[in-house]
Amino acid sequence: MNFAELGGAGMTSARTRARLVDRLKQQGIRDARVLSVMGEVPRHVFVDEAISHKAYDDTALPIGFGQTISQPYIVAQMTELALGAAKHEKVLEIGTGCGYQTVVLTQLFKTVYSIERIGGLSRGARELLSRLGIYNVRLRHGDGSKGMAEQAPFDVIIMTAAAPIPPENLLEQLALGGRLIFPVGTDEQELRLIEHTEAGFVETRLEKVKFVPLLPGLA
Ligand code: SAH
Repeated sequence: MNFAELGGAGMTSARTRARLVDRLKQQGIRDARVLSVMGEVPRHVFVDEAISHKAYDDTALPIGFGQTISQPYIVAQMTELALGAAKHEKVLEIGTGCGYQTVVLTQLFKTVYSIERIGGLSRGARELLSRLGIYNVRLRHGDGSKGMAEQAPFDVIIMTAAAPIPPENLLEQLALGGRLIFPVGTDEQELRLIEHTEAGFVETRLEKVKFVPLLPGLA
């Protein structure tokens, strides 16, 4: 996929993305596929023009409706974990937001399903994805905590909003060899990985993180 012509920032943003990739390497991201995609996806088109100069900083940024675009390092890390799944056919993302993580996933998985509870964000992401010419994605305005049973099983399920307790019901939608990657907690949050193995579900606790909360119902 060539995103180069979008967004008007041209070479400047290509150079800035190269610096982002260097920083991700220093932070411990190793997977060449992840680094390559992060070096291509134009993060600046996902944020308001007024803050687009900050688009490649390693921070979360506001995207309206009180929500944020995740920090690049966290997007890279979750994507690297996702690629550890046995198959890369179907991934479900909970919390589309502006669609940045969604686009990263579309470059590495056959089909991406993504659910967002805020209508305005879901519509914005839909427009942006079509502008970027991305078609291997199905967006839904809905409550992601139930998952998407009719499309299950998924090779990967990624939650980009934090729940106070691990989301039991999503495990039923995880394929054998599949991976669930999710932040858990309220004030103190931690990233976790659950792998669906022949022997059952195996949970690994990863690092401290800070995500917006998973909320019920539609907005
Ligand atoms: N994936 C985004 C991160 C967006 S922030 C990125 O690439 O930057 C997390 C998003 O989860 C917010 O937009 C929020 O509205 C959404 N969210 C919170 N609870 C949800 C739920 N129950 N179902 C679907 N989306 C939810």
